[in-house]
Amino acid sequence: MKIAPLNSWMDIKERPLVIAGPCSAESEEQVYQIAKELVANGKVDAFRAGIWKPRTRPNTFEGVGLVGLPWMERVKKDFGIPITTEVANASHVELALKHNVDILWIGARTTVSPFAVQEIADALRGVDIPVMVKNPINLDLALWMGAIERFSAVGLDKLAAIHRGFSSAEKTKYRNKPYWAIPIELKRLMPELPIICDPSHIAGNRNLIGEVCQKAMDMNMDGVMVETHITPDKALSDAAQQVTPKMLHDIITHLQVRDAIGLNDGFEDELNKLRNKIDQVDNDILEMMHMRMNIVKQIGKLKSENNVTPLQVGRMDALMKDRLEKGKKFSLDPRFVEELYHAIHTESVREQTRMMNDFKKES
Ligand code: PEP
Ligand code: MN
Repeated sequence: MKIAPLNSWMDIKERPLVIAGPCSAESEEQVYQIAKELVANGKVDAFRAGIWKPRTRPNTFEGVGLVGLPWMERVKKDFGIPITTEVANASHVELALKHNVDILWIGARTTVSPFAVQEIADALRGVDIPVMVKNPINLDLALWMGAIERFSAVGLDKLAAIHRGFSSAEKTKYRNKPYWAIPIELKRLMPELPIICDPSHIAGNRNLIGEVCQKAMDMNMDGVMVETHITPDKALSDAAQQVTPKMLHDIITHLQVRDAIGLNDGFEDELNKLRNKIDQVDNDILEMMHMRMNIVKQIGKLKSENNVTPLQVGRMDALMKDRLEKGKKFSLDPRFVEELYHAIHTESVREQTRMMNDFKKES
């Protein structure tokens, strides 16, 4: 897949790339004032506003629609800043292009639908415009990658992913659970693809935007897209998560942005030595795991010969308690120890179940 670097789309001042603006364009005045303050504060590379809003429930504000596009064009003209909006079908694409929108994004509720994504991709065939693809609302990396591939297949190469968190039944302090491992896996599978974090939809609460932005920087993401409003509490959509341009400026100024690649040779040497040690330790861990699985198999054979089930809940409880205790002595986070032993134990039971069913087939 051919992916163009971010700085081929626009002039980026420094990492992180910052895209800011209201959740929704509400009036010409609101759009203009927000953009004016953002530009005055510096640090903003592109202006966002939702024109068509895919709302979860009907009878909420669904965006101003077409009338809002000239308001954004005015921002582009007066402040010399690229503009971006969400498109969810071919007619949105046509209107956005007609009104000189510089960058398009695909919303989380659109990425879930391959038909909708394909319709948008087909409308963009032969057009050279950057497209940012939000993750689908559900935890599905393949669906996210599939949408990106559909845009690549029609010839677009200015592509980026936006990580906006995933809906989850689990109650957390965030509106959408980040599951950071998913964008990290995306980066591993598509290393050239820029990833932009949307802390607003992850957090759902303006007081948590700063910490999510910092986490995105620590994960080496390329930029952030932050919902920003002059009077956030009066916003017609997503009021609780929007920050003022001043708050955004403070958040960005306080970010610790570290490089993924060290600039001096001493650093690289030291890093390589430590990585070699890690590789050695990981080798030992895998060897020990192999030994452990061999013992598991012996136990499986014994259980099978004695007609005993692979899973014994009491043993699992006792094992977990003991390992958590030991883990504590080695200063390991109990959550990590629990997840680790959960994975090991699940695999052991799976192996024994497999063995027992094979035995049955043989006899
Ligand atoms: C938005 O950016 O305002 C939006 C609707 O986001 P999402 O598609 O991530 O819910
Ligand atoms: Mn929003």
